[in-house]
Amino acid sequence: MPRSGPKSIAVIGAGVAGCALAAQLRRLGHRGPVSLWETGRGPGGRASTRRSRHDAALRIDHGAPLLNITGDADPLLLQPLLAGGWLEPWSGVIAQLQGESTLKLGQADALGLGQLYRGAGGMDHLGQGLLHLAGENVDAHYGTLVRFLSIEDGVWQLWGRERELLGQAHWLVLSSTLLAHPRSRMIFGWDDVPLKQAAAPLADLQLDHALTLIAGIRTEARSNLLVVLDAVAAAPWRALPFGLLHLDAAAQQHWGLQRITVQPLADGRCAVVAHSTQAFAADHLDVYGTHSAVARMLQLPPDEGREDIVVAALTIALEQVMGLWLPRLDLGQTDRQLMRWGAAFPLAPGLPSELMFCPRSRVGFCGDFIAGVGFGRVEGALRSGEQLAHELLAFT
Ligand SMILES: Cc1cc2nc3c(=O)[nH]c(=O)nc-3n(C[C@H](O)[C@H](O)[C@H](O)COP(=O)(O)OP(=O)(O)OC[C@H]3O[C@@H](n4cnc5c(N)ncnc54)[C@H](O)[C@@H]3O)c2cc1C
Repeated sequence: MPRSGPKSIAVIGAGVAGCALAAQLRRLGHRGPVSLWETGRGPGGRASTRRSRHDAALRIDHGAPLLNITGDADPLLLQPLLAGGWLEPWSGVIAQLQGESTLKLGQADALGLGQLYRGAGGMDHLGQGLLHLAGENVDAHYGTLVRFLSIEDGVWQLWGRERELLGQAHWLVLSSTLLAHPRSRMIFGWDDVPLKQAAAPLADLQLDHALTLIAGIRTEARSNLLVVLDAVAAAPWRALPFGLLHLDAAAQQHWGLQRITVQPLADGRCAVVAHSTQAFAADHLDVYGTHSAVARMLQLPPDEGREDIVVAALTIALEQVMGLWLPRLDLGQTDRQLMRWGAAFPLAPGLPSELMFCPRSRVGFCGDFIAGVGFGRVEGALRSGEQLAHELLAFT
């Protein structure tokens, strides 16, 4: 590892925040190497799109279906993303289901306030657009879980599951709390919190403080039902007066659903995603879904029996809600899948932005868990990546 010249940065996680960091570093003139490490098959994280090699027209935004910008000033990367055709304004109608039957068109929740945008051609194009802006200095490694961290001679080392060396860099950035939060012990049965273990000998009070606060961040889960309707079945869905329905507290309690997004496909079909409430997801946390990345990482055998039960419960809820507009709705024969998000939304207050940059240890944090405008949303992820790039550039 060269001691002089531009410093290298290893970014763990290629969600919106990690990709935004890489893009903004480039825009600010950083010419040093940036490596990106991601367990998923591509960029996007919770703002990604499910696609199929065998079905080119299929795309389901199974996490965030859109992003909303609420701050006074736009994120700096917004215009380049729009200009590059990676993002587009979302012009659909948001509606709220109040109680058990009243529909209020145009009534947004916190995820629908401000200016609305979506990835052009799928939410995963947001991450891809950011990486396009980041240019060729970024060396992205997908399908790779960083399991252990250490620091030797002032250089961060990233290790895989078999303790094989994956990479090294002068600066380490976590764009997810996974390696810094005790939940990894519960999910994966790890006996350590990787960054905490690696940081212990550094005796950096700022980093220790950040780690203490990160350990206290709680998250909400979601169990989402993904439905794909053929062109005939999709027709009445495509004619609905809204593209995104969110349920008020009473309706959520009644049906166990929080949101329903209707996503027309180019070939006449339609994808529908029913987002469960936090309470429903908490009751079914151990049912991952056949396509879950966590289940794959844990090499868990599919538990189709339990998955079927969750899918059936969510299907009934979806049929009942949408039965208000689509009488005699029967989704029993449709293609349905479960997508469980164990940590869908961080809960406030998150990590104060003063602690996102720990220069003494050469560690940075970005992600929607950083307190500030857009906390818990795509907007916050974008802004945190931009902000960290500025902090890092002052040092590298
Ligand atoms: C169902 C759902 C609906 C949502 N709806 C909305 C919405 O309508 N509007 C909105 O603004 N936001 C919404 N959100 C939230 C939004 O998706 C997130 O705020 C945003 O995508 C977070 O981006 P991020 O980069 O901070 O984190 P992430 O997207 O979580 O990215 C972190 C990445 O790091 C990777 N990673 C973590 N640890 C490791 C490791 N050790 N090794 C390798 N890779 C690792 C993960 O695989 C992940 O890809 C929704 C989220 C969900 C789940």
